[in-house]
Amino acid sequence: MQKGAELYRGKAKTVFLTDQADLLVLEFRDDTSAFDGEKIEQLERKGEVNNKFNHFIMQQIEAAGVQTQVQSLLSDTESLVKKLKMIPVECVLRNYAAGSLCRRLGVQEGVTLNPPTFEFFLKNDALHDPMINESHIIGFNWASQAQIDEMKALTFKVNSVLSPLFAKGGMLLVDFKLEFGVDAKGQIILGDEFTPDGCRLWDSETKRKLDKDRFRQGLGSVVESYIEVARRIGLAL
Ligand code: ADP
Ligand code: UDP
Repeated sequence: MQKGAELYRGKAKTVFLTDQADLLVLEFRDDTSAFDGEKIEQLERKGEVNNKFNHFIMQQIEAAGVQTQVQSLLSDTESLVKKLKMIPVECVLRNYAAGSLCRRLGVQEGVTLNPPTFEFFLKNDALHDPMINESHIIGFNWASQAQIDEMKALTFKVNSVLSPLFAKGGMLLVDFKLEFGVDAKGQIILGDEFTPDGCRLWDSETKRKLDKDRFRQGLGSVVESYIEVARRIGLAL
């Protein structure tokens, strides 16, 4: 496999074409962004940590029967993935209230959500990723009802795999965001990434934040915390 031209440079990752039409290279950079790109910093080793973390998690998800983009680790900061036509919505599942849910509804951080809540957001930085519902997704042709149903079911399935994994490491999976795409066969596949950049993880006892909120809130030790999360779930980085 030969790495080809740059296809897209996002806030934290760069996507490259390859000499195989159905494969891409995802490069995880050290860039860390928050507030729709308003705050951006380079954090040493974050690209490597997230690349390896993502690969590890995607393998667990795949083993549970959810199809993911991940093919192989290519280098410290690069993964080979299936090329997908990304659906421009973010699927957010919450086990505990935090972040935008608290701001929007005035509920207290940490309130248990049982059953978990599920929300869709439009992937659009300029509009600050507004919350949308199923009728927007269908009306604007971003996805079909069948695809919506599948994304939702797969997001709950991922929660049922990952919540116990993090619980074993003494952590609460507070919330997370997934992005799905469609492959050449028309199948819905989990794309993008699952790393502490796109989820919230708290120490179960102390409720210490171990995810990107450390960056958003200027708490320090961001990459060190990601490495601690990895260690607690059995991945040495
Ligand atoms: P953003 O676009 O939000 O700034 P990133 O820096 O993470 O995000 O850039 C990665 C981009 O690559 C995202 O837009 C994501 O939707 C897209 N992407 C992720 N996985 C795939 C894939 N398997 N095929 C095609 N595009 C992908
Ligand atoms: N999230 C993300 N990318 C986004 C928006 C949210 O990865 O563009 C993740 C975020 O890290 C958290 C979950 O989705 O784990 C829910 O985020 P929320 O809606 O609370 O927004 P936030 O306050 O984090 O911006």
